[in-house]
Amino acid sequence: MAPLVRRNQEFLTTAEKQTYVTALLELKAAGDYDWYINTHIQAAAEQVVHGFPSFLPWHRVFVSYLERDLQQTRPTLTIPYWDWTRADDPKTSVWSETFMGPGGIPVTKGLFAWEPTHRWRCIGPNTGPALGRSLGNTPGQPSTLPTAEHVAYCNAWNIYDRSPWDPTATSVFRAAIEGWIPPDRLPAMHNRVHRWMGGNMADFGAAPNDPVFFLHHANIDRLWAQWQDKHPNAYQPTGEDPREGENIDDPMAVYTNPQVVIRSVLDTKAADLNYVYDTQRPSAQGPVMYPGDVLHRGESLWDPTHKFELTLQGTDGNLVLYDYTVTPRRAIWTAWTVSPETATCIMNFDGTLAVLDRSDATLWSRPRQGQVRGSRAYLTSSGTLDIRDLDGRVVWNSEQPAPVGADA
Ligand code: ZN
Ligand code: ZN
Repeated sequence: MAPLVRRNQEFLTTAEKQTYVTALLELKAAGDYDWYINTHIQAAAEQVVHGFPSFLPWHRVFVSYLERDLQQTRPTLTIPYWDWTRADDPKTSVWSETFMGPGGIPVTKGLFAWEPTHRWRCIGPNTGPALGRSLGNTPGQPSTLPTAEHVAYCNAWNIYDRSPWDPTATSVFRAAIEGWIPPDRLPAMHNRVHRWMGGNMADFGAAPNDPVFFLHHANIDRLWAQWQDKHPNAYQPTGEDPREGENIDDPMAVYTNPQVVIRSVLDTKAADLNYVYDTQRPSAQGPVMYPGDVLHRGESLWDPTHKFELTLQGTDGNLVLYDYTVTPRRAIWTAWTVSPETATCIMNFDGTLAVLDRSDATLWSRPRQGQVRGSRAYLTSSGTLDIRDLDGRVVWNSEQPAPVGADA
């Protein structure tokens, strides 16, 4: 099975967000979510994982375990990620009452409020039953989230980790993204987000009491996965760290049944993990291109009835829509992108469908104006290619007449 795609929460529909939250609430009601809180409390108490090389692989497995638990009832569900570089505003979509819910100590609205629903009971030594989060309003703690510049600062390091393999390791990706090397004298990156959240997320051990924990860690994992794409085989230490659980062939701390060796989780596409992120240009699957999805040259999209095919032709690079209800098949729409340079068709996050050349320059894109961020491209069973926004409104359609003065 092709890897499933973890997507930006910003680009999920309200219904998709409700599906995710419902699955979480069911897991909580069954008592199974509390394993995550207790396991993270144990990791904190044993002073392993945090501050050390295994920080990234250990949390990769942790998030993946929750994903597998949720997939028991919804096999294609994936953990959304929260790109906090775009989300300083407490009114942003992640805090809607139908998703993670708003801030507050305690949180009193939404699906994770203690009153009046009593569905989400926090556990652990330092907390009452009600979830709390301050969202940047804790005195003495960061009032802003990490920025795209902070992410670029982390990505600039080409070495994963180095001696002394702890929070003081300098000029390395792991310590930078974990947040031990602040560019501005405040807690940075991963650590900063926990501090900005406040409340339960600021509780080192029991932070997973807040379900935002997993959206945050999926984003950290995404940034690592993208860094890994540029720095393959970069994990260190490979035997230099005297501590158990940190070297590439060590089983990690806390996970005992089964043991998990770091090397086995360095590729997210490995069978036990089997996911990629929407920012890694996943090939489209099924009749819809979600934001980030691509057709590489030679790949196709089929409508739900398998009568229509959208293909970025391997032969000539043209993006063509074929009708198979007639014999021989008939081309009913084309973007005229015939060129030896044509490389990919991508559903951009800004809401445009585009054909790109080998250097990612845009050869063709639609709509030409009025695009809506987060839109998706649908190959319909009536043989049209639609670009629709998250509310299902058609923003552009392949049968739409071209504006006066424009080409097809
Ligand atoms: Zn942790
Ligand atoms: Zn964390």
